[in-house]
Parts: sequence; structure tokens; C-alpha cells
Amino acid sequence: MHYFVICEQNPLFSLKLHFFFRIPKMVLNIKRASSLDGATVNVQDVLKPFDHQVGGHTPFTSLPNGHLLKPCVERELYFYQKMPKSLKSIAPLCCSTIQGSSVSTFDDSCVNCRQHQLENVVIPESIEGSPILNKRKLSKNFIVLSDLTYRMKSPRILDLKLGTRQHGDQATVAKIACMTAKCQSTTSATLGIRLCGMKRPPSESQNQISINKYEGRQMGKMELFLALQQFFDVSENVLELVQTKLLAIRDVLNETDGVRLFGASLLIVIESEITESTPIENLVRIKVVDFANATFGGFQGDNIYEGKDEGSILGLDTLLGIVKC
Ligand SMILES: [Zn+2]
Repeated sequence: MHYFVICEQNPLFSLKLHFFFRIPKMVLNIKRASSLDGATVNVQDVLKPFDHQVGGHTPFTSLPNGHLLKPCVERELYFYQKMPKSLKSIAPLCCSTIQGSSVSTFDDSCVNCRQHQLENVVIPESIEGSPILNKRKLSKNFIVLSDLTYRMKSPRILDLKLGTRQHGDQATVAKIACMTAKCQSTTSATLGIRLCGMKRPPSESQNQISINKYEGRQMGKMELFLALQQFFDVSENVLELVQTKLLAIRDVLNETDGVRLFGASLLIVIESEITESTPIENLVRIKVVDFANATFGGFQGDNIYEGKDEGSILGLDTLLGIVKC
């Protein structure tokens, strides 16, 4: 049995609390098939705090072999379970979903997850006593996603809120007003992107840069462009890779009817520490993430939308204009 504690604010702090002070908190008990042979898996080797998060408000926890455990609302879990095939290519690989004690591993999960499936997940009722988790309805739902920073030595990470509208169809009137105002007062409405988080690690010739979502909301067009130029201050071949991947995502959205990526982000990860032996697949990774408010035709009784997601495509075009070689 391995007991894991997830804290809304700081997973590392929670782990320490549980193991050293025995304060009951949210407990996620995962027994892996690979441990059925009696081998003991040290919790510290299995679940670790994730160091590279730059955006969003849900804390991720790192699982072995390039996976992340993300607490999510039920809607996002269903989105991953039912998303159209075309969208799978632009989203991170989702290997499993966890609802309470029920784990579903997808047929198209990675080899590791097919061989070592998660099972026997138990989340005790006591976690429902946590007001933060209850408030966000995150207590029992998790998705196991691929970690875009996996095997990168020094990743620079950019989280751009995509599109001109962020609220989903289920949003309350107050939420719609708030989210619409946020789009209108930031670069979202005019450029289809807003900086939600950015980290560029320090190097011999460059200082570290770290920008959070609050600073991102204050940015006008010029400040945003300046920040993005600093982020994409990379070699021409890396920039070409970025461009190719952005164009591939744009192509998918351009050819997909009825999808609306409300509230989603474009997550861009680039390896800063490149050597001759760095595999090309470890240089640039770009995916669309955060589907809690996104929709597609026939999903969860949402409104039916026709045509392509122009707001998201506007954002990709803005970005492509900045990264053009
Ligand atoms: Zn996997």
C-alpha cells in the first residue's frame, strides 16, 4: 500500500505533513500492478511534486515515466474520454482517468501504462472535509497526462490562454460577465492569446525570466510581443520546429467543425540546454491543454457550434506571426 497526500497549494508540503506529522488530509492510495510481485515501491520514487508548472490553479503531481497526475473537474475528465480523434493529436496523451476508486486506462495509452496499470485507487471520505477541494469539486477526479517537460534538462515553458472567449456554456451570468471583461481588457479579445505563465531559465548569456498570469493580464500588445520574443530567442532550427508544430495545430483546428476550446491554453515547452546528443523529440513540445470549458458537437448537452474555432485560430496566427523565421 502506498499512501499519497495531495495538497491544493503545495504537494510537497502535504507529503511531509502526512508522513512526518500524520495529519489526515486528502489521501490517494494507488496500488500499481507492477507492485503485485511484492516489491515495495517507495512513495518518494512514485509521486513527486511537479516543479515546472507555470499556469493554471490546480497543482500537478509528477508520476513516474513522464506522467502527471492532474486533479480535474468531471467535465474535463469526460472531455479526455470522449474527445474527437482529431483533437487527440493536439492534446497531451492522456493514459488514464481516475474517478473515485475507478481507474480507466485508455486503449491508446503509452506502453508503460498498458503494462503497469494503476489500480485500487481509494480516496477516503475524509477528503471531502477539505473546503478547497469541495469548492472546486476536484476531490475525486484525476487524469494521468504525459508530462511535456519529461527528459528535458532545462525547459523554458510558456502557457498562453488561447482564444477570444474563455467561459464555457455552463457558466453562470456572473462568471460570463467576469470572464468576458477579462478578455476585453487583455490581449485575448484582439490577439486571441494572453500570457498566463512564462519561465525562461537562466543561462550564461541570459537572465531568468518569470511572468505570472496577473502580469500577463496587464500586458498590452507590445509588452506581450516583447515577452514572447524573449521566450523565442532560440536558434533558427528550433524556431522552425516551433513553427511546424504550431502550423500542425492550426491545421487541425482549421479542419475541425464544431470544436470550441473555451478556456484552453497553448502549452509550449522548449529545451534550453541543447547538446549534440539531445534527441530532436526533446527539443520542442507544444500541446493544447485545459479542457474544463471546451466543447465539441454533442458534448454534455452544450450548445452546438458550427464551423471552426476562429478565436483559437486567431491566437495561433498571432503567434505564428511572432515566431516566423
Ligand atoms: Zn502512460
